[in-house]
Amino acid sequence: MKTLARIPTAWHVTRWYADPYSRGAYSALLPGCRAEHREILARPVDGRLVLAGEAVNPQNPGMTHGAWDSGVAAAQCALAAGARRVIVIGAGFAGLAAASSLSAKGVQVIVLEGRDRLGGRAHTASLGQMRVDVGAAWLQQFEHNSLARYAESLGLAMVETDFSQPLSAASDGYLPDIDAAYEALKAGVDRSLPLKDGVAQYLTSLSAAECRAARYAIDANLISEAGLPLDLLSPDALDEPGVGNGDRYLPQGYIQLVEHVARGLDIRLERPVSSISWNEQEVRVEGEVGDFCICTVPAGVLKDLKFTPGLPTEHQQALSFLGMGMIEKVVLQFGERWWPVSQSGYLRWFDTPANWGEWLDLTDGVGVPTVAGLIAADGVARHYHAQSDYQVALAAAEKLSAWADTLNSAMPGG
Ligand SMILES: Cc1cc2nc3c(=O)[nH]c(=O)nc-3n(C[C@H](O)[C@H](O)[C@H](O)COP(=O)(O)OP(=O)(O)OC[C@H]3O[C@@H](n4cnc5c(N)ncnc54)[C@H](O)[C@@H]3O)c2cc1C
Repeated sequence: MKTLARIPTAWHVTRWYADPYSRGAYSALLPGCRAEHREILARPVDGRLVLAGEAVNPQNPGMTHGAWDSGVAAAQCALAAGARRVIVIGAGFAGLAAASSLSAKGVQVIVLEGRDRLGGRAHTASLGQMRVDVGAAWLQQFEHNSLARYAESLGLAMVETDFSQPLSAASDGYLPDIDAAYEALKAGVDRSLPLKDGVAQYLTSLSAAECRAARYAIDANLISEAGLPLDLLSPDALDEPGVGNGDRYLPQGYIQLVEHVARGLDIRLERPVSSISWNEQEVRVEGEVGDFCICTVPAGVLKDLKFTPGLPTEHQQALSFLGMGMIEKVVLQFGERWWPVSQSGYLRWFDTPANWGEWLDLTDGVGVPTVAGLIAADGVARHYHAQSDYQVALAAAEKLSAWADTLNSAMPGG
């Protein structure tokens, strides 16, 4: 059903994949990559340099608290090396954590940030009167999340999302148990094969109904999380952590946290870095001289930086195994909330091919009828190519509409 009410009145469409300071949403394990490669990347280089950020955290990759923890660990490396003047590259959570930890210990720190804003992939944009997170939104693994503890200490309002209770619909009939299908797939896939082949082999062992459930599970729980298609993922990607129960979002945005941490730090905006060089005495970065450097640029950007005398071979190899997932967000605002209300605020749409499969209803948190949808991997390529933001927003709204119509027609009297 198409009505005027279903045409968004305001929208924000991200293009992280085209952003030279992110080159994608977050890191993903390419074929051949083991989770240990993340840990290798975090090893200090020549007592002068350490890489930090979500990509180098094997425990919590792809998440803000993973970035935060890696920044704190990088600061400890600098302290252990006896650093007195540190150059931090990047003012996302990893860079801010590193800089604030070092500042608290009396170390002189400057932060060089390429963009004209703070926060990196945690970005709160304005949509009309509202603020909305167009990168990271949730504080994930909430009970074990150092950034969440920080948000709590500031008394920031947070809203819980129960991911175990989505309001879901499938485009082609009944809804299978996606999570059970995914657990079975994780246990059943032969990990010695390339992921795509292991999955193909596994699917041949299933009935038609089980196969349909497994395909939806792969789209929802693997490809939409990692942001890459199966042929570009390592079997270890099956075990990377994703959303969990009890995750919370900040209705007023991540910016509150970012601004708080950044207070008092010496951050130089619009200072893009293209090369880092060091010797036994010092580190040089774009005209700045220090005795240690913490580089927090995303993995996709790291590949283009020039390092002199060069990263160790093990770092180079580990980096070559990391890719950047493509995950984009569209935030849509409407004059009224015309879609079915989910108690958890979490909506899922299963479609073939996968399109805007995951939505969060932000209406209760922000007080205006608003939803945020996510699209990943080849879905991005399909919907974004040569399309304006408005066209992308309309296509997303159509999928939300299809989800709503499917649910409405399944209800008594629908
Ligand atoms: C759509 C989307 C949804 C997400 N959802 C969640 C979520 O719900 N929960 C969650 O925990 N995580 C989520 N994430 C991931 C999360 O945003 C990242 O893991 C985290 O913000 C990464 O922090 P970082 O400090 O490692 O990197 P960044 O935040 O990318 O910081 C790196 C900084 O370096 C700067 N920089 C880059 N290149 C250069 C250069 N050449 N010179 C100088 N500066 C440079 C960048 O501008 C940036 O400020 C999401 C990400 C996206 C894109």
